[in-house]
Amino acid sequence: MRQFASDNYSGICPEALDALLAANQEDAPAYGDDVWTQRASDKFRELFETDCDVFFVFNGTAANSLSLASLCQSYHSVICHETAHVETDECGGPEFASNGSKLLLARGDQGKLDPVDVERLVVRRQDLHYPKPKAVSLTQATELGTVYRMDELETLRGVADRYGLKIHMDGARFANALASLECAPKDVTWRAGVDVLCLGGTKNGMAVGEAIIFFDRDLAADFAYRCKQAGQLASKMRFIAAPWCGVLDSGAWLRNARHANAMAALLEHRIREMTGLTPMFPREANSVFFELPQNAIADLRARDWRFYTFIGAGGVRLMCSWNTSKEKVEAFALDLRDSLRRT
Ligand SMILES: *Cc1c(COP(=O)(O)O)cnc(C)c1O
Repeated sequence: MRQFASDNYSGICPEALDALLAANQEDAPAYGDDVWTQRASDKFRELFETDCDVFFVFNGTAANSLSLASLCQSYHSVICHETAHVETDECGGPEFASNGSKLLLARGDQGKLDPVDVERLVVRRQDLHYPKPKAVSLTQATELGTVYRMDELETLRGVADRYGLKIHMDGARFANALASLECAPKDVTWRAGVDVLCLGGTKNGMAVGEAIIFFDRDLAADFAYRCKQAGQLASKMRFIAAPWCGVLDSGAWLRNARHANAMAALLEHRIREMTGLTPMFPREANSVFFELPQNAIADLRARDWRFYTFIGAGGVRLMCSWNTSKEKVEAFALDLRDSLRRT
């Protein structure tokens, strides 16, 4: 398929699929009492080098909504970027799961929270008529394909600590961010003050499933009940957990992310070279955004290319994935040059 629409258009990577088939060899206890779920959870504790609590749910909307609900009472608020997935793409899921915790929208360049604006939202009102700020939610990598650096996370943590705010990280593309940062997972999570991480499996190459990782284990109290009530407790949980074992044991988790990032870098490079266009934001993970004329967009679509134009600040988002090929990158760049010439 000719697409740079999303990394969730891609199929299952071989390492995840092999593990899925291995978990299908024999019967196993239900509801997470199986060896695969135990092993995957232990793998995460190894990966993050800390004793965290791990849960598995079907998708990212549930992971974000339920974990944010565990940080907040209904009268609390969550500060997030105005382009955050929790704000623009979850149909009010976080508010619904928390019985009304309000999202407060902060600004910031390149899809990253501006710590000054976060602080403004906290201090502008301190009376009981305003929903009390309780958490900061940040997306790593961001919706605009940028990545928070360690020092940026430290600054946000400073603000959060000053006002007693918990930190939630939407890591639907955490692996891509990590591959870009080349640092230890702990350095950009719990060591940087992250209390709970929603870790994406789907966009990394699994069929389904996200992990919720509580670094602050007190916050995970009764969380299993919250998952069950929300219809997010898989009875055959091993089929969500086993693919995690597959991608973590084999290293495919980071390898997939590195490949996706490298393809986005190549795509950026070829488009710059062939058209002279420059991206709208620095390309730091597996997507790159370009502002294109409407008729060129229409022409590309007529050539069967699929991509999104509604994410973040607009423009054409080109997203790469674990199975994006160099040939596809070349074919797109050629078609784009041609579309720009013809229109
Ligand atoms: C894809 C994505 C999610 C999860 O979306 P689901 O469709 O609910 O799995 C969460 N956050 C971000 C930033 C995403 O891109």
